[in-house]
Amino acid sequence: MEGAIGKIRELERVARELEPDADTRRHITDRVVRYAAGFLDKIHDGLAFNADGNDGSGLYAAPISEEPLEIEAILDLVEKNVDTPALNPASGGHLAYIPGGGIYPAALGDYLADVANRYAGVYYVGPGAVRMEHMLTRWMSDLIGYPAGSGGDLTSGGSIANLVGIVTARDARELKAKDFAKAVVYMTDQAHHSVDKALRIAGLGECIVRHIETDKRFRMRADTVDSAIQKDRQDGLIPWLVVASAGTTDAGAVDPIDAVADIAERHDLWLHVDAAYGGFFILCDPARNMFEGIGRADSVVMDPHKGLFLPYGCGAVLIKDRSLLGKAHYYQANYMQDVAGAEDEYSPADHSPELTRHYRGLRLWLPLKLFGIRPFRACLEEKLHLARYFHVEIQKVDGFEAGPTPDLSVVTYRYIPKKGNADEFNRRIIEEVHKDGRVFLSSTILDGKFTLRLAALAFRTHLDTIDTALDVLRRAVKRVKAA
Ligand SMILES: *Cc1c(COP(=O)(O)O)cnc(C)c1O
Repeated sequence: MEGAIGKIRELERVARELEPDADTRRHITDRVVRYAAGFLDKIHDGLAFNADGNDGSGLYAAPISEEPLEIEAILDLVEKNVDTPALNPASGGHLAYIPGGGIYPAALGDYLADVANRYAGVYYVGPGAVRMEHMLTRWMSDLIGYPAGSGGDLTSGGSIANLVGIVTARDARELKAKDFAKAVVYMTDQAHHSVDKALRIAGLGECIVRHIETDKRFRMRADTVDSAIQKDRQDGLIPWLVVASAGTTDAGAVDPIDAVADIAERHDLWLHVDAAYGGFFILCDPARNMFEGIGRADSVVMDPHKGLFLPYGCGAVLIKDRSLLGKAHYYQANYMQDVAGAEDEYSPADHSPELTRHYRGLRLWLPLKLFGIRPFRACLEEKLHLARYFHVEIQKVDGFEAGPTPDLSVVTYRYIPKKGNADEFNRRIIEEVHKDGRVFLSSTILDGKFTLRLAALAFRTHLDTIDTALDVLRRAVKRVKAA
């Protein structure tokens, strides 16, 4: 026995290294905070995209080993290999894809969440953490006009939120494997690829996906959905799901949700609205009317790590009838028996694919409490105006033509050279923009043409950023012409 106790004490001595004393804690925290402050001090002058060729492989030169490393050396590895190369998503110059940014107090929320490590999966053990999440999904449900009895889940992002929505729809419509090859989904070709991915992961890869025509502004033509459903029914198929986008990734287009809801209701189809990018623009007066009818959807996805500028790792799915979310995600297990019946609130674990999960409410709740909603709304409305501003200004630059007036904050445009291949010219513009690095822009293919995009959603993007983008583009054109 003595030998065993000696061994335990020896192991304990080493194990206790996992709990630094107060002085050491202060020291490492101080270094981390100083590093973060240095990062933020440089954010406005630094690059949005660093194309210097560093690929982060220096991390491999310091393999995970038995031996500890000083915090300074660790932060040095992070700075050189992670925080320097390629895209800086925290930069206001991030104008590609769908940016977000990462507001600082969310990091403090994460810090507190991680220190306390409350259990946010099960109400019985973490009632406060669970209520905090419910309060946030309730707030979002109120924004879109969902009734009491609706519910939702904070997810890691929009892709998982879409998956949860689609699995809920599948089970609510009692779609069985024998039906899958006859089941029809309606959406436009502008719907986010995570919807296709979710269908496949949900076992619905054999479903028929009908790509509904879009109008000149890349919005779903609701009038054609109706006839498509009728025809499919006549042909013995099983129409069951319509996916509308409230803010497409390519062009920021908002489908006519209310008109689509009419059709979904008439034919008794599940309506899922992917508002991962656009959803929080419902906070802004100039955009609100575009979301008319969103409360009629059966499920809605919104991404706080886009529209509320949170650091990556926070999406949300909202289901109008919460019991359907529960039906698709409940579980039973003997070792969970203490949990049963202890609830006056529902547990996220019963309403999500996850059991143990990040206590992700605090990173959203803390900034909302600290700032109030007002600056979020202003920041979103500012982005609507910045997109309009860019849309006007880019057309004043000789040679550029722009896509439709933006519904939200994505602008599409391209350069038309006097001679030569336009697609190739625009591809080279993007290369030059990356080399410059002050802003980061991306491209896509629209109507078969190589098209440039500017997406304003990073909270650090302001008027001066858009002027910089215009300058970068003018110079890029000059360089491509000169080459
Ligand atoms: C970003 C986006 C998604 C995917 O969300 P993630 O948070 O990146 O997983 C889905 N739909 C739309 C419209 C998006 O913009």
